[in-house]
Amino acid sequence: MSTIFTKIINREIPAAIVYEDDSFIAFLDITQANPGHTLLCTKKEYPNIFELPIDILEKIFVITAKLAKAINIAFKPTGINILNNNGKAASQSVFHYHIHIIPRYDNDKIKIEWPDYSQTYLKDDLEKRANLIKSALL
Ligand code: 5GP
Repeated sequence: MSTIFTKIINREIPAAIVYEDDSFIAFLDITQANPGHTLLCTKKEYPNIFELPIDILEKIFVITAKLAKAINIAFKPTGINILNNNGKAASQSVFHYHIHIIPRYDNDKIKIEWPDYSQTYLKDDLEKRANLIKSALL
C-alpha cells in the first residue's frame, strides 16, 4: 500500500506543494507546528535514512538548505529546526523518507529536548562510545 506522501506525490490527496523535481517533493506539514513548517520528501518510498542511495544523499541537503533559506525569507523566524525522524522510537510516524524544516520563534510551543548526562559519565565512557562509532564507519 502506498504511503500518504505517495498519495500527495500522485495528487490523490491535496497538499500545499512548495517544491518539486524528479526525485523530491516539498509540501507544508499538515500540523503546521509553526506557519511554514515544511516536509522535504523523496519521491521513492525509502523508509528511512539507511535506505537512501548516494545520488539522493548528495542532493538532499542542498535542497533542504534552499528551502530553509526560503522559509527564513518568507516567515522571518528567529530560528529553524531541520530534523529527520528514523524509527518509531525516534517519533517517525510516516515511513517514507522526509525532512522537517520548522521555523522557530522565542517562546513558541514546540519542545525538542534531551536529558543532560554530562555530569554522570566518565571520560572513558565517551572514548569507548566514540570508538564504537569510528569502528563502524564504512
Ligand atoms: P514523522 O513523525 O514521520 O517525522 O512526520 C510525519 C509528518 O507528516 C507529521 O508531522 C504529520 O503532521 C505529517 N503528515 C501526516 N499526514 C499528512 C498529510 O496527509 N498531509 C500532510 N501535508 N502532512 C501529513
